[in-house]
Amino acid sequence: MTTGVTLGRLARGRIGSDIETAPFWWEAAPPPEGGFDPVPRKVDVAIVGAGFTGLSAALTLARAGRGVLVVDAGRPGFGASTRNGGQVGSGNQKFRVRTLIDMKGERKAVELLREGVEMLDGIERLVRTEGIDCAFERCGRFRGAMRPEHYESMARDMADLRRYAGVDAEMVPRREQGREIGSDRFHGGSLLPDDASIDPGRYHAGLLARVREAGAAVAGCAPVRDIVSDRDGHTLRFDGFDLRARDVVVATNGYTRDVGGYFSKRITPIVSSQIATGPVPQAALAAATPRRRVYGNSNRVFFYFRTAPGQNRIIWGGRANHVARRGSASSFRHLARDLLQTFPGLGDVEVSHAWSGLIGYTFDEFPHLGRSPDGVHYAMGYCGTGVSRSSHFGRKIALQLLGDPDGRSAFNDLGFPSHPFHFAARRAVPAIEAWYRIRDAAAF
Ligand SMILES: Cc1cc2nc3c(=O)[nH]c(=O)nc-3n(C[C@H](O)[C@H](O)[C@H](O)COP(=O)(O)OP(=O)(O)OC[C@H]3O[C@@H](n4cnc5c(N)ncnc54)[C@H](O)[C@@H]3O)c2cc1C
Repeated sequence: MTTGVTLGRLARGRIGSDIETAPFWWEAAPPPEGGFDPVPRKVDVAIVGAGFTGLSAALTLARAGRGVLVVDAGRPGFGASTRNGGQVGSGNQKFRVRTLIDMKGERKAVELLREGVEMLDGIERLVRTEGIDCAFERCGRFRGAMRPEHYESMARDMADLRRYAGVDAEMVPRREQGREIGSDRFHGGSLLPDDASIDPGRYHAGLLARVREAGAAVAGCAPVRDIVSDRDGHTLRFDGFDLRARDVVVATNGYTRDVGGYFSKRITPIVSSQIATGPVPQAALAAATPRRRVYGNSNRVFFYFRTAPGQNRIIWGGRANHVARRGSASSFRHLARDLLQTFPGLGDVEVSHAWSGLIGYTFDEFPHLGRSPDGVHYAMGYCGTGVSRSSHFGRKIALQLLGDPDGRSAFNDLGFPSHPFHFAARRAVPAIEAWYRIRDAAAF
């Protein structure tokens, strides 16, 4: 695919037309058109959402002998699971360890941190035992400090991560960062050598194949319009017909809609965008990313990037530009600008793909799993760090549904907060992000 646009032109805003294309990952693994199976009238477990959460739950339930149907409003895999950056971590960097301890107490904080590490190990185990060909690699993560004071607080946090979560973590001072990244934009950074990268499209395709082999049905283009619960189970309303299910798992994350007010009051969708470049000259790429890790920075509104598996392309992501019309070239302009501020020599490199997706934010910034007051099981709210978490939570919620003690999670008893002005939260996202950008730029 080609857009005929270079990073330099995109950054300067010299493109009038739309640029949005399909995600880069869809070239190797396009989500199946239409979806496979018809929706029956009755099933043991209905799972709403065919992303990593829904598929991981389906695999566990189908292997345990349950009759499972996964439905998705779009093509199976239409959501964030095939649109993300494929950076795989533990989710433990969402809060500073000290902040987590202040919020939850040391014992609970340690439990949460250790489960984060389990999630990272779990996705590797899943990929290996299922034999999914998706370029999973423990490439390590470098996170650049945008200011000297960020470096200092990152150093304290890495020491805490080592102490409380037992993870391998180190700091790379500015004078040595050339071995990690060919840019002088950062004041040193942190390194998590165990973090990983994956091709999320191929991971999703592999998981989908395993789920179907395990005997679960998957129906795409089947939007659920409502879920009505009673004493004996649940009725899922589709356009023109109903489905009865003894149990339901809602796995809709940032795309949550029409699955009941309980969830829409708790999840705020936030747009996140990415661009992929065409081939970068070998020498320039080797200078920019000598170790081909996954990368990010320390700002509140951060950017993140990596190279494409087996190719000389850069995949660069960040929050959306809310001022621009969605899909327009200007809605991706800030990504090209950030990339060129980091690697100024790449202005002539082409942009091959530009796309967006929805992440699911929660009001306490923790992911949640459990059972709603109506008895609907759910797992969601990964706040932008969901590749390993969704795979782990999908399995956990399935085990909980099966009554298996291994389903216990440290995240279960956190309480899933709603907000009385949840509808306003959606509208407030652009203003909050703009405010954070100002604070990032002005350092206060
Ligand atoms: C651009 C972008 C970059 C990201 N980068 C990273 C990254 O590098 N690392 C990382 O860890 N995480 C990243 N994430 C987050 C990660 O992708 C998600 O947390 C994860 O994929 C969530 O998986 P899921 O299965 O819960 O939801 P999704 O994959 O979003 O699937 C939800 C599905 O539910 C369906 N649905 C919703 N409502 C209904 C309904 N009423 N009826 C039927 N179906 C319905 C939707 O169609 C959708 O397909 C990124 C996200 C985005 C958008």
